[in-house]
Amino acid sequence: SNHLSDRIKNMSTSATLAMAAKARELRSEGKDIIGLSLGEPDFNIPDFIKEAAKQAIDENYSSYTPVDGYAELKKSISGKFKRDNGLDYGLNQIVVSTGAKQSLFNVAMVVLNPGDEVILPAPYWVSYSDIVKLAEGVPVEVPTGIDTDFKMTPQQLEAAITPNTRMMWFSSPCNPSGSVYSKEELEGLAEVLKKHPDIYVVSDEIYEHINFAGGHVSIAGIEGMYDRTVTVNGVSKAFAMTGWRIGYIGAPEWIAKGCTKLQGQVTSGANSIAQRAVIAALDAPLSKIQFMIDEFHKRRDLVLDLLGEIDGFKLNVPEGAFYVFPDISSFFGKTLKGTTINSAEDFALYLLEHANVATVTGEAFGNPNCIRISYAASEKELREAIARIKAVV
Ligand code: PLP
Repeated sequence: SNHLSDRIKNMSTSATLAMAAKARELRSEGKDIIGLSLGEPDFNIPDFIKEAAKQAIDENYSSYTPVDGYAELKKSISGKFKRDNGLDYGLNQIVVSTGAKQSLFNVAMVVLNPGDEVILPAPYWVSYSDIVKLAEGVPVEVPTGIDTDFKMTPQQLEAAITPNTRMMWFSSPCNPSGSVYSKEELEGLAEVLKKHPDIYVVSDEIYEHINFAGGHVSIAGIEGMYDRTVTVNGVSKAFAMTGWRIGYIGAPEWIAKGCTKLQGQVTSGANSIAQRAVIAALDAPLSKIQFMIDEFHKRRDLVLDLLGEIDGFKLNVPEGAFYVFPDISSFFGKTLKGTTINSAEDFALYLLEHANVATVTGEAFGNPNCIRISYAASEKELREAIARIKAVV
């Protein structure tokens, strides 16, 4: 393994997937582990989407697709951008990829040159920094805390910009904090960016529909931002289609073209059956997925109530996604059941060992004071998991 490339040696393993693997291993040893580490809806895919996939198989959608996705699917995506976000993206601005993860990777490879800086308001989604590094960019973390609801202020953005800044990446609703940027907050960031016309924005909106405050706002719709924003989305979260691996972008045409060129040499395009199924998903009225959003909302309230009863857990009120991100730094320096807690990682491992509950350390998301708890689990599991946590802290 010492012949591994520096690229792979220097890359971190996805902390969320690593925790899930650890939980699986403990389970196979017979331990009753409750897994709250993965960002994966625990619902079945709505039947009408399954039917569309079956039909695609029967109708022999089995050849290579256009590299950037079926035109019919891109039409559905264009319609979705218009309907949900008020954004006009033509088919030449849309690229379908193997999950939003690949969409993000494509954009990094297409826009960044070695040494280009990418501002990441922290906490950020676990893969952003490694994707940026793979493209030889330099992640520049801007730490935020619970005091600003884990959101970056215009002043912080301004202070982080250097002559080498090329991009800013963020998710709203945010994984891991659940924070949602309001229109005014996005306008504040756009105001700063106006002064720096060469900086591009990646707006990761994959949790857009899982929003309990209502009113998702796309930064591409703010004055002056459309030509310098890549809007990233996908079906993993809102449609519970994580394994189908379909994500997409709406972007300036030159970026879309670059992504298609790259994808043409790397994957040749996303899976044909999944693409056909996603047409059905995106064309359906949003009322078809409302039951999942209502359920997440109920669980969010339950989890906040139950965790709020535990001393030492400081919580913001997440307005979207399906995570809570408690600040647990008050435990640092304390010894629990013979284990000294010096970091969020120590705390997450302690919970795994003593409460049999899998969570993820905030360090992986660029915040060393927090842990992430996913509430994409049944109410019964959530109640049991939090009771166990309470009993060991
Ligand atoms: N962006 C964010 C913020 C996510 O949380 C995830 C999945 O966890 C992704 C992108 C990637 O989603 P996909 O399954 O489409 O690759």
